[in-house]
Amino acid sequence: MMELSERDKNHLWHPLTQHQTAKPPIGVVKAKGALLWDEDGNEYIDGIASWYTTMYGHANEHIIAAVSEQMRQLDFVMFSGFTHEPAVKLSERLMEILPANQQKIFFNDNGSTAVEAALKMAFQYHHNAGDKRDTLIAFKEGFHGDTFGAMSASGIASYNAPFEDFLLKVIRIPTPQKDNLEAVILQLENIIAENNVAAFIFEPLVQGAAGMKFHTAEGLAAIIKKCQENGILCIADEIMTGFGKTGANFACDQLEQKPDIMCLSKALTAGMFPLSITSCTQAIFDRFLSEDVHKGFFHAHTFSAHPLGCAAAIAGIELLQSAEISEQQKNIEKSHAAFAQKIRNHSKVAEVRHKGVILAIDFNVKMERYGTLRDQLYQFFMERGVALRPLGNTVYILPPYVISEEQLQKVYDSIEGALAIV
Ligand SMILES: *Cc1c(COP(=O)(O)O)cnc(C)c1O
Repeated sequence: MMELSERDKNHLWHPLTQHQTAKPPIGVVKAKGALLWDEDGNEYIDGIASWYTTMYGHANEHIIAAVSEQMRQLDFVMFSGFTHEPAVKLSERLMEILPANQQKIFFNDNGSTAVEAALKMAFQYHHNAGDKRDTLIAFKEGFHGDTFGAMSASGIASYNAPFEDFLLKVIRIPTPQKDNLEAVILQLENIIAENNVAAFIFEPLVQGAAGMKFHTAEGLAAIIKKCQENGILCIADEIMTGFGKTGANFACDQLEQKPDIMCLSKALTAGMFPLSITSCTQAIFDRFLSEDVHKGFFHAHTFSAHPLGCAAAIAGIELLQSAEISEQQKNIEKSHAAFAQKIRNHSKVAEVRHKGVILAIDFNVKMERYGTLRDQLYQFFMERGVALRPLGNTVYILPPYVISEEQLQKVYDSIEGALAIV
C-alpha cells in the first residue's frame, strides 16, 4: 500500500494550500487526548487543539459515549417541521451558560454559516420594520469565515483579494486599545451618522486569525453601547473564543455590555462533529413574527441541528462545567504566565501575551503570512513532535484543556528552541 501522503496527491485539494510548493501533508492515523500519530508512528502534541476544536482532548470517552448512544436512538431527521431531544436539551443547557439576554438558538453546520445566518438575521431584522440598512461595521483584521457574507466581514486581505469586487459594504474600525478609545468612538459616530448601519460584527477580546491579537473589554463594551443606542445589532463571533478559552465560558462574559447575536462553533461539539449556532435575543426573534409568512427567517441548511452534533455539544458542556476541566484551565493559565515571564525579555521576542489558555508570542523577525521562514518554523516544531501553526511572525499555543504539564513543557521547550535559531 502506498503511503497516505502519496495517494493524497492523486485526487485531493487541501484548504489554505498552494499545491505547487507545499510539502506533502502528514497522514494522521490516530488521535487521543492531546496527541496525534502519523502513519510512520511519529507522535505530535496537538498544540492548537486542531483549530481550537478538540478542547477536551481527541477521542474523549465521554463524548464518544454520548454520540454513540445518540446514533442508535435517532441518527438524523430534518429540523423543519420536526424537533428532537438533543436539540431541545442543548438549547436548555446553553441557556444556563450564555449571557442572560440570549434566548433563541438557530442551528447551522459550521462557523461561516453561523456568521452568514447572523448577518442575514440582522439585515432582515431591519427590513421587517421597513428600515433599509445596508452597511456593516467590523474590526480591522477580523476573521469571520470564508463564505461571501462572512468573508466580507473579514479584514484579512490575503484571503479576500480575488473577491473584493463582490463583497458586502463593510466599514472597518481599529480595535480598542488602551490609548485610542476616544478616537475610535469618534470615528464610529461619524460612520453611524453617514451610513445606514445594520450591524457591528466582532471577535470579542481576541482576534484569532489576525495572530491572537487582544483588545480591551472596556473599549469593546463602549463600542457595543454606542452601536446599540443607534439601533445597530451587535454580533459577537465567539467561534474561536467560546467554551472556556479566555478565562470565562465566553469572552462576552467579561463585557459590561452584551451582544444581541452570538455565533458559536469549533469547541461547541468538542471537535467531534461539524455544528454551529447563531443565538439571539427575544427582541430579534419577535421581529420575525407576523401573519405575513415572508417575515419569517427563510434560511436553512440540510443538516441543521444534527442530533449527533447536539449530543456531542451537550456532553461537551458537561465537561466544560466539570471540576477537572476548570482546574486544568487554571493550571494552563498559570503555566502560560510563568513561561511568558521567562521569555519576555528574550531579544527575539517582540511581545508575549496570554489570556486564559491562549498564549501568543510575536517573534522579533520579519515573516510573511505564508513565507519561507514561517514554513521553516512550522517544520521545526513538527520535527520536535509539536504541531503549531504560526500566523505570520506570531507563534501561539491554544492547547486542549487535558494537556499534561509535561506535554505543555515540551511545547514551551520547542518554542525556546525556535527562539534560539531565528
Ligand atoms: C474558524 C472561525 C470561523 C469560521 O468557521 P468555519 O467553521 O471554519 O467556517 C469564523 N469566525 C471565527 C472567529 C473563527 O475562528
